[in-house]
Amino acid sequence: MSIFLVDEYKDMEPYVPGEQPKDKPYIKLNANETSMPPSPKVFEAISKAEIWNMSYYADPHCHEFRTAVAEVYGVTEDEVFVGNGADEVLSFVLMSFFRRGMKIYFPDITYGFYRTYAKTYGLDMEEIPVKDDFSIDINDYMNLEGDIIFANPNNPTGLTVPVADIEKLVRKNPNRMVIVDEAYADYSTESCIGLATKYPNLVVVRTFSKSRNMAGTHIGFAIASKDIVSDMNKIKFSFNPFNLNSVTMAAGIAAVKDTDYLKECVNTIIKNRKWFTRELENIGFDVIPSKANFVFCYHKNVESEELCRKLKEEGILTRHFADERLKKYLRITIGTRQEMMAVVIAIKEILLEKAGVDGETESFDLRLSKCVGA
Ligand code: PMP
Repeated sequence: MSIFLVDEYKDMEPYVPGEQPKDKPYIKLNANETSMPPSPKVFEAISKAEIWNMSYYADPHCHEFRTAVAEVYGVTEDEVFVGNGADEVLSFVLMSFFRRGMKIYFPDITYGFYRTYAKTYGLDMEEIPVKDDFSIDINDYMNLEGDIIFANPNNPTGLTVPVADIEKLVRKNPNRMVIVDEAYADYSTESCIGLATKYPNLVVVRTFSKSRNMAGTHIGFAIASKDIVSDMNKIKFSFNPFNLNSVTMAAGIAAVKDTDYLKECVNTIIKNRKWFTRELENIGFDVIPSKANFVFCYHKNVESEELCRKLKEEGILTRHFADERLKKYLRITIGTRQEMMAVVIAIKEILLEKAGVDGETESFDLRLSKCVGA
């Protein structure tokens, strides 16, 4: 640490993204990304002309891109803010609407970055415990003295809060901002986008990193009232007007317009989530019913930390969190059917090895049923 770092940041613990080891090829299921490619329209959009465009600054108002997003989501351009990933969009929300010392509430089990942001921006954070089944009870948020942020579906549980409950919260607290992070909403049936332009205290944040298979371009956007978007743009133009580059925006425009491809990819993941959940349950896993592109699960015969380590040895990355309330569980991103089949096979082998079940003469499934008691 240099002598120049400001005091407030000395004890800060930065967010730790899912690891990206390069020592061998991995099936990467630890950061809720996907091995599926972006829309074919994106491949066409990154043309030579787009490379020539690099010579000039990109449009800082992101006019074409915001218009494309607005058309797809049935809002107007001035109700759309775009940024370098949902993370940056969230950061602009906090930078624009929160002073140091202001109160912010979020669930104790949720996306770890909210805690990091609260520290970065010197906010007075309060974590509201989720219920024993990890669900968020909206009544816990109804009468608080500050603004609120939560992910819907939540990460790492995949559970959702009904939109009707969120609307009640937003309506009852017109002077408090409610930020709903919908990074995984395409995999769910719940979305607040329809409410975002109706209520001036609601901000809905989305990303292209998950359902649009574009984590590497890091695009996020928010839909909110014109006033909120204009405030955020004011801050953006006071910080980094060119937060999205021209190539990224060309890719984003092509991707957002290809709604058929989005549906196709989302349907694939939902089908695979269903299949994988059933496979896990058949071998004795407890799986939280997920509305996202991951499942949060555990098996009574093997510690999740050990399972995570052993899967990594087998070339499969999953995410284990050391926090007290989470350590029992493992978060596994839903990928292609082949990837999920490989995970099931690897997990079965690990369970067999754990149980010390031997016997070449018995079938694999018989040995497995003995060891998991299924
Ligand atoms: N919100 C949630 C709930 C997430 O899980 C993530 C990804 N880890 C993000 C936001 C960040 O998305 P992006 O890649 O667009 O910054």
